[in-house]
Amino acid sequence: MSQEAYLTINLKSLAHNYNVLRSKINGETLLIAVVKANAYGSDGVKIAKELSALGTDYFAVAYASEGINLRKAGIKKPILVFYPQKGQLEKLIEYNLEPALYSKEIIHSFLALVNKNTLNKYPVHLKCNTGLNRIGISINELNEVLNILDESSLEVKSVYSHLGASENKKPCAFTKKQIESFELIKKQILKRYKNPPKLHLLNSSGIFNYPELKYDAVRTGIALYGFANRTEWDAELKPIAKLSAPLCQIHHLNKGESVGYNQGWVATKNSIIGVIPVGHADGIGRQYGNGIGTVQINGKPASIIGNVCMDMLMIDVSAIDCKTGDEVVFFDENTTAVDFTASANTISYEILTGLNNRIKRVYI
Ligand SMILES: *Cc1c(COP(=O)(O)O)cnc(C)c1O
Repeated sequence: MSQEAYLTINLKSLAHNYNVLRSKINGETLLIAVVKANAYGSDGVKIAKELSALGTDYFAVAYASEGINLRKAGIKKPILVFYPQKGQLEKLIEYNLEPALYSKEIIHSFLALVNKNTLNKYPVHLKCNTGLNRIGISINELNEVLNILDESSLEVKSVYSHLGASENKKPCAFTKKQIESFELIKKQILKRYKNPPKLHLLNSSGIFNYPELKYDAVRTGIALYGFANRTEWDAELKPIAKLSAPLCQIHHLNKGESVGYNQGWVATKNSIIGVIPVGHADGIGRQYGNGIGTVQINGKPASIIGNVCMDMLMIDVSAIDCKTGDEVVFFDENTTAVDFTASANTISYEILTGLNNRIKRVYI
């Protein structure tokens, strides 16, 4: 057992999830694989290559830098950039990345660059705001924006929006309103174009909850990595990542002795505690300390005690038969990232994407 923390990525599980998602959409529906944030904390390049080999024809990332990394690693498929920022627009062109245009301001900035470079039919996507109120042009701007785009040297490859509560139980009044807005957008698009751009609305949980709304494409991230935001949907998928680290030291404490910074934990009886080489700099935040987070060691649950340090944390192993070198599991296919995060009131997305590069990635 090596003396470091590992994120073990199971590529068979990735293929399983990909195939489950493919089976939920028909042959003509495009699967846009979302590999932003280092493929949800795993490894953007490695995962994009695997997904390419599995047949993925389209990728999406959040920012230009992520698309550039994929291009530099040899990914040739189209890459949609969800949230391009003004300072990154030249790079998008340089690396043949496809921006989502989400405001008149960004449209004008990008158009100016495309014209300066005398490009023709540069592929872009149009992001509409249907109620999430995060990013996107509003419906009352749509006509004006489409007029601008139609007279430009841009080619609108897709028009899309994003649901804010796609995992919520149906019927959901908020989602219903978003869908109605998107249907109005669809009408406008179909009326306007002989060869309309692709339309898409669904993220991972949307694919499970609203199979009737697949339109021309879906954008799936978390489900590729094994989660879909509801227990019964998760059951169809396999978490691809396991976070583990070896127990690196054991201490026998007397009643009254304390553990960690600021004496975060005090032994109420003679106790045995274990030390693990993972801390908040690795992505296990301080909210998991003081008995909130639970890890598994030799098949038994152990509480994280005291304050999580930057590079290490401590667990109570008084009732567990263990020795240094034994594997400590934060989450895996059985005790999942959902289970691990539930106690800290957060979601699988946060723990996965927060894992630092210091954790070694290995593949099986
Ligand atoms: C991140 C993101 C997705 C993927 O969402 P999942 O819930 O991970 O499937 C889809 N669309 C947009 C616009 C996103 O930002």
